[in-house]
Amino acid sequence: MPRPITATIHPAALRHNLERVRHAVPDAKLWAVVKANAYGHGIENVFEALRAADGFAMLDLAEAQQVRSLGWRGPILLLEGVFEPRDLEVCSRLGLWHAVHCDEQIDWLAAHKTQVGHRVFLKMNSGMNRLGFTPERYRSAYARLNALPQVDEISFMTHFSDADVDHGLDRQLAVFHATTQDLPGERSISNSAATLLRGDAAEVRCDWVRPGIVLYGSSPDFPRHDMAGWQLQPSMTLSSRIIGVQMLGAGDTVGYGSRFRAEGPLRMGVVACGYADGYPRHCDTGTPVLVDGVRTRTLGRVSMDMMAVDLTPVPQAGMGSEVTLWGRAAGGAVLPIDEVAAAAGTLGYELMCAVAPRVAKVVEGEGR
Ligand SMILES: *Cc1c(COP(=O)(O)O)cnc(C)c1O
Repeated sequence: MPRPITATIHPAALRHNLERVRHAVPDAKLWAVVKANAYGHGIENVFEALRAADGFAMLDLAEAQQVRSLGWRGPILLLEGVFEPRDLEVCSRLGLWHAVHCDEQIDWLAAHKTQVGHRVFLKMNSGMNRLGFTPERYRSAYARLNALPQVDEISFMTHFSDADVDHGLDRQLAVFHATTQDLPGERSISNSAATLLRGDAAEVRCDWVRPGIVLYGSSPDFPRHDMAGWQLQPSMTLSSRIIGVQMLGAGDTVGYGSRFRAEGPLRMGVVACGYADGYPRHCDTGTPVLVDGVRTRTLGRVSMDMMAVDLTPVPQAGMGSEVTLWGRAAGGAVLPIDEVAAAAGTLGYELMCAVAPRVAKVVEGEGR
């Protein structure tokens, strides 16, 4: 028997979360963001459930090729554009739309020999200061692109740095619209946070929204809203089993560094899950976890392949009992990934993406 740890992907939850975004912005088109192998879920595991999107967006050409080979004929957008000139050949061949964020990418397009007119998303650096043309240089980049025979259609995009806080996107929003005001073309500016928090405003949702994290059931502005607050469902469950039980007495310690010391008798379970599975080592004693669907806490340090949990609230639990590290327990109880992430000082994004290759991924409903 393999180690009992599994990441279960829930297609019904992905469908539900996509529908939830649709409901928030019914008249916008929707890119399902599947970068980083669909936020760690596996593109092949989410594709069918997210087919109701209007397009798929990612960074890697290999991921774009994968979505095409799964049978997707609709729009695909490379959010960082191409990384070298010959990537443009793949774009021509597969009909990929691509972001253009720097002069070099325009140079490469100008030198690209193709019969296929490219659809590009001209990226503005409206304040994030990562990729994109500054507002001052944006219109000259547009003019250059617009003069290229290789370019068929130009759309406009930017990305928010602070969409999860009140008024965090106002400045970038104003700069983006002021700069693109009279330019013809579609616009895409909103990530999950902007879509859920401000998508009721037409100037925020624009033509295309770009939700990522919300599709996977993590709240983009946790803890202000949690998963239930946004009516989301977890799309991934990380689960394992108890593979050992210890009875601690007063003064006994648990794990490396003896970070937990029992004050009195305590029944403790050892779980087949550690940081080598992607569970964050930063989670200290007290991180929430479900055993047989009952909420309890971790004890001591997470080690490479194991961690410990307090069995006090679940006296019937023992060898082989189900442990839910995040997601949905067999009985239906839910532990939001955001709560575990908060205990580790990080975000649900990082936890999903960090699930290790040694953890088997199973799609619910497809069996093992
Ligand atoms: C990752 C990404 C998104 C999605 O962001 P979420 O916060 O996961 O919704 C949208 N747009 C761009 C350019 C991205 O890189």
